[in-house]
Amino acid sequence: MDTIKRIEELKSLINKANYEYYTLDNPTISDYEYDMAMAELIKLENEYPSLKTADSPTNRIGGEVLDKFKKVTHTKEMKSLADLFSYEEIISYIDTIAKTTNSIDYSMELKIDGLAVSLIYKDGFLIEASTRGDGIVGEDITNNAKTISSIPLSLSEKIDIEVRGEIYLSKSRFEKINKERELAHEELFKNERNCAAGTMRQLDPEIVRKRGLDTFIYYIVDPEKYDLKTQSDALRYLKKLGFNVNSESRSVHSKEELLEYISDIDEKRFDYNYPIDGVVLKYEYFDMYSRIGETVKNPKWAIAYKFAPLEVKTKIESIEFQVGRSGVITPVAILSPVLISGSLVSRATLNNEDYILDKDIRVGDYVFVRKAAEIIPEVVSVIKEERSKYLKPFSMIERCPKCGEPLLRKITEADYYCLNKDCPARVIESIIHFASRDCYDITGLGDKISEFLYNEGFVYRISDIFNLKEYAQTLLTKEGFKERKVFSLLDAIEKSKENNLDRLIFGLGIRNVGKKVARILCEKYPSMDALISADEEDISRIPDIGPIIAKSVKDYFNDERNIEMIDILKENGLNMIYTSSKKEEETIFTGKTVVLTGSLTSFTREEASQIIENMGGKTSSSVSKKTDYVLKGDQAGSKLTKAENLGIRIITEDEFKEMIES
Ligand code: NAD
Repeated sequence: MDTIKRIEELKSLINKANYEYYTLDNPTISDYEYDMAMAELIKLENEYPSLKTADSPTNRIGGEVLDKFKKVTHTKEMKSLADLFSYEEIISYIDTIAKTTNSIDYSMELKIDGLAVSLIYKDGFLIEASTRGDGIVGEDITNNAKTISSIPLSLSEKIDIEVRGEIYLSKSRFEKINKERELAHEELFKNERNCAAGTMRQLDPEIVRKRGLDTFIYYIVDPEKYDLKTQSDALRYLKKLGFNVNSESRSVHSKEELLEYISDIDEKRFDYNYPIDGVVLKYEYFDMYSRIGETVKNPKWAIAYKFAPLEVKTKIESIEFQVGRSGVITPVAILSPVLISGSLVSRATLNNEDYILDKDIRVGDYVFVRKAAEIIPEVVSVIKEERSKYLKPFSMIERCPKCGEPLLRKITEADYYCLNKDCPARVIESIIHFASRDCYDITGLGDKISEFLYNEGFVYRISDIFNLKEYAQTLLTKEGFKERKVFSLLDAIEKSKENNLDRLIFGLGIRNVGKKVARILCEKYPSMDALISADEEDISRIPDIGPIIAKSVKDYFNDERNIEMIDILKENGLNMIYTSSKKEEETIFTGKTVVLTGSLTSFTREEASQIIENMGGKTSSSVSKKTDYVLKGDQAGSKLTKAENLGIRIITEDEFKEMIES
């Protein structure tokens, strides 16, 4: 019973979405939500074939054909493509096809996010252009198509041919069009695809001309007629005839090459000036197509891999406020947990008050959340159409959520601050920061223990960490603090005292002084005393430093409480002298640029980079002609291929170890 109900729900959701997307060119759900609903429906219909009806949207292509255009019956059906969403699904697809073909040979192409078009040429002249429509009957858009400059009106050969491809709108044109509409107080287009589709269904070709649409052509109907054997040959021939053919297509001949292509495109998918929503895999040899076969809706010899979305819909359950070690207050959205690119996200930063007010984000709102590589999840936009009328606009808190002190917003900044230097949240954060790996690197002094030591009254400021040994016996009486744990923590604290000075400077938490700045300061002032007595003007003249950092440094050392704490650190025997890590003598990495790719087993990326830097080299995140070495770890990605193509020396982790030792 539940399954029947769910199937009905999915069908009506998909039918409504189809109408809004194909007929109105105005979708109200994301493509990802649509794709997930469709995937669920396909799965249920496969599990319960008796519940699959003839009118199911899983059998249907596209949408309704508009009456305002002449109808065109396609010579050969214009089908859609089935979708894959994971690498496992891709591998299983390739394996299945290989059972028929005995080979892995694919033309890999970008999946352009526009609308499909069919173009018919007679004696080399364009005579008809049509939309895909429902796959069998489309709309005659010849007059509109003729205004698109990349659609040739005549070809380089006087032949009869039907080709198919994608009409799309570039990202830059889309931005321009929406800017103009904003100024004219007209409704904005949701995305490039909707604008392109809406434009092609205008009755006035002048509007189409002005919008500046473009095309990529990727398919020839009955290619054998032109003596073509493979899809890659077809793309070359299309180019020769005068069509715009996307230059990112590749012919691949192994699983590895195929997956490499996909991960490479996925990495740079936002770099193109046209929208893409995936990659299309097409089996190369046309003579196999009839054996591989087709379904009512899709060919089986081609399939689309859809990129995982970076933006996913979820709900804001509440808004919390985090207090950073500088006192900055960061509002954080607590979300209904949602999967984004394979990981579960339940918090997203809201940055500051202005960010929330600009987007008018409210507790209870449905929102799109984005997570790009290495970036904290953030709320991108609010789905206002789904907002309940009872939701209250956001108002910023006035007091620190941890210590209750009034908050202050500086005129020049968007952030609010808790100015209470003894605020428990600030102190705990500063202890966590100090002990962290990049700073004083005290093993065993992580987030939980730092919080515990503060709450139990052991550590109120950084210098207290070094007095902890006095309280070893008391610590041993606390739950969870066995001898081994306590003594290894105390040992780690003792050992850390030898750390280089830049780690201490970074650990102090001086505003605007990060890891790199701390090192630059120490290179110039190689002792704590030299830095304390440095002149603000002199500091600001150091390359890469400037007046803002110089002022932060002076402000910090002008505060007596800080000087008093540094004195205690000195008494405790912490190293106050800087040993430059710049090696004078030449090493194998002196002056060399190294790019790291994949994961290493004996080092973290940080460690490997640090070693290279200490040996006089530098690391870069992208491969170019200037790269000297590429250090390759497991599952190395597209950087490796690029390096191979450029003839750059690739070193394995073992070779790297040998180079360091030498
Ligand atoms: P599709 O977009 O998933 O794939 C088929 C189409 O890809 C082809 O018809 C062709 O136009 C295009 N394509 C682009 N580059 C290509 C290339 N190199 N080779 C071959 N084809 C290429 O399928 P569809 O049937 O056009 O549309 C379904 C999709 O549209 C859904 O998966 C969803 O993403 C979106 N949609 C969204 C909503 C919504 O409400 N958000 C509603 C309906 C459909």
